[in-house]
Amino acid sequence: MWPIDSSDAVCAWTRAGMESDCAAELIERAAVAGVAGWCRTGDGLVEFHPTPAEQLPTLARTMAFRELVFIRQWFARFAICRDLPPDDRIAPLARAAAVIPQPVSAIRMEYPDTDAGRPLARLARVLARPFETAIARGPGFQPDRGGPVLHCALLDGSTALLGLSDAANSAPWPLGIPRLRAHRQAPSRSVLKLDEAIARFLSDNERATWLRPGRTAVDLGAAPGGWTWLLRHYGVTVSAVDNGPLAQSLIEDPGVDHRAEDGFQYRPRRPVDWLVCDMVERPHRIARLLAEWLSRGDCRHAIVNLKLPMKQRWQTVSSQVDTIAAALPGDGRLLANQLYHDREEVTLFATRSPLTR
Ligand code: SAM
Repeated sequence: MWPIDSSDAVCAWTRAGMESDCAAELIERAAVAGVAGWCRTGDGLVEFHPTPAEQLPTLARTMAFRELVFIRQWFARFAICRDLPPDDRIAPLARAAAVIPQPVSAIRMEYPDTDAGRPLARLARVLARPFETAIARGPGFQPDRGGPVLHCALLDGSTALLGLSDAANSAPWPLGIPRLRAHRQAPSRSVLKLDEAIARFLSDNERATWLRPGRTAVDLGAAPGGWTWLLRHYGVTVSAVDNGPLAQSLIEDPGVDHRAEDGFQYRPRRPVDWLVCDMVERPHRIARLLAEWLSRGDCRHAIVNLKLPMKQRWQTVSSQVDTIAAALPGDGRLLANQLYHDREEVTLFATRSPLTR
């Protein structure tokens, strides 16, 4: 977030249906930062209003976007533009944006990722270039110069929110939705979950050093093999554990060892670099399994999917995260996120390695 004088709320994009979990998380995390507040939930969008509003800069300083679970993207709102005329929406948006005190480094046109909001994608595309031109003439548009990111969130054809975020403390993609390659050869669409997790949690440097030939992985609940396929794509050697059948291309791959065993019983003979796990099980069982692998040093890094209940999802995630965090060394890291390609689930990333960026 990047609050300015007229900022009044933190706006957070989340998955439709998970607004109350997003609100519970924001309220709890703000309280930890010493900031009270309340939330208004909309369609895939949650507003957090600090009380008093002057507390917004405290949140911006203390809350790390990377640590948030149910928030895909966020910004500090500084204007609500209503009654935008259909024949010239840009002029009132540009007038409202005139309060931005310095050139912006990026502009993100956004809209709710919901059934009602998706039809606004076309309008967002049409407005993008003229809005950019207007901003360049006003506060200025200087990519890669370290200025704030400007968000223009269309709520319908005549209403938009304007807000700012810090490029280093927000998602690098509009709405927090990464553009991923299609991976047409992969045996399942689940591949996108692991691909997004890698994009979201690992730095370029970590990806290059931790995912390359010579690295080893265990994939629990591997069939039909989307995650194993992606690990092989990076050259990682994989033990794929599942009683179900793997795709033929993986059975023929000498870099894949298919083990038809129970994922809760299986243990590697030697420690591996990676544990990945997509078994459909109750979250506390998966969290306990991951904690065991990490505390015994059976794996160095892990990406694990946690299936969530229909209610109290934030409470479920935060209690399981505590179990896993206790199994990590002091300089280890644990992150969780409700990814765009997740459904009723969140994806966890844990590493015993300290931060190297
Ligand atoms: N990640 C996989 C992919 O990319 O193709 C999809 C995994 S699918 C959602 C869940 C898998 O977990 C199923 O193939 C199921 O057989 C497996 N599974 C569930 N319980 C298991 C257990 N106790 N041991 C091993 N595999 C298990």
